[in-house]
Amino acid sequence: MFNIRRWIRWILFYSCLSSLCTFWYLTAIDSNVELKSVQEHRLAVIVPFRDRAKELEIFLPHMRQFLKSQSIEHVFMIINQIDKHRFNRAALINIGFIESCSFVDYIVMHDIDLLPLNQRELSYRYPEHGPVHLASPEYHPMYHYATYVGGILMISCRDFERINGMSPLYWGWGREDDNFYVRMRRVGMKLSRPTKLSTNTTNTFEHIHDKGVHKRDYARYGQQKEEGNKVRPEMGWNTTKYDLIDKNLRISNQGIEYWMLDVNIFCDYSLTPWCDHPTNETRK
Ligand code: UDP
Ligand code: MN
Repeated sequence: MFNIRRWIRWILFYSCLSSLCTFWYLTAIDSNVELKSVQEHRLAVIVPFRDRAKELEIFLPHMRQFLKSQSIEHVFMIINQIDKHRFNRAALINIGFIESCSFVDYIVMHDIDLLPLNQRELSYRYPEHGPVHLASPEYHPMYHYATYVGGILMISCRDFERINGMSPLYWGWGREDDNFYVRMRRVGMKLSRPTKLSTNTTNTFEHIHDKGVHKRDYARYGQQKEEGNKVRPEMGWNTTKYDLIDKNLRISNQGIEYWMLDVNIFCDYSLTPWCDHPTNETRK
């Protein structure tokens, strides 16, 4: 009655079946993980903006095509400073972070006039190992000093939050990016840059900036220069005060969707009396 051979056959059959099932299940999980890691990340392209309508119409289609070619899921966030103060790039980027990082997990702070050209080697993928400075001084058409981190810098929301973003105390042109370099260094954050590219300073980026048309605001008033040398890590995205006046999903002439956020940045005159250009009366 009791057929031992039959039992052994059954046991062998079931153990083979269960190993096959386990194998299939594990490989299915693995490929899911891989699929997810491609789609899981979402980028916000944060553009500090004022009076650059022409550049925007060039930037949007260029970047859409560039990012699509790398299968980067992204959203354009144009942060438009509409108050009457001097331009504040850092505060605008902080606002971009605040307004984006609830639905993306990384950002690229992107000057509107610096267009990446090297589609094959300049990657906009999620910066897993710390901030990535794409507009490297080795390839930037204009800025070549070693600590330069302006132009295009990619960073995860987590890392940006950890260093409290950028100091919003810079009004007018320059130095906010140098301050950001020091902020990254002081917490030991590793910065990487593209290297060994097949392109050079003439064909890695195009800088569509005619300084005859858009003059840089180099003025320094009062203690502005001295204060600009301080890091002030306690000042950052969490101290950036602004009013969001309008937020619209718009479509460019070439059919590219983007968010336009009109903002008024608040100036604390006791901290930075130089946030406006002095008028003739105040100059006396
Ligand atoms: N920007 C702007 N309006 C201004 C000044 C600056 O929109 O009046 C933005 C714009 O995105 C620009 C970036 O800030 O690309 C950096 O400014 P700028 O081009 O003057 O700096 P550069 O790197 O050329 O010295
Ligand atoms: Mn420029």
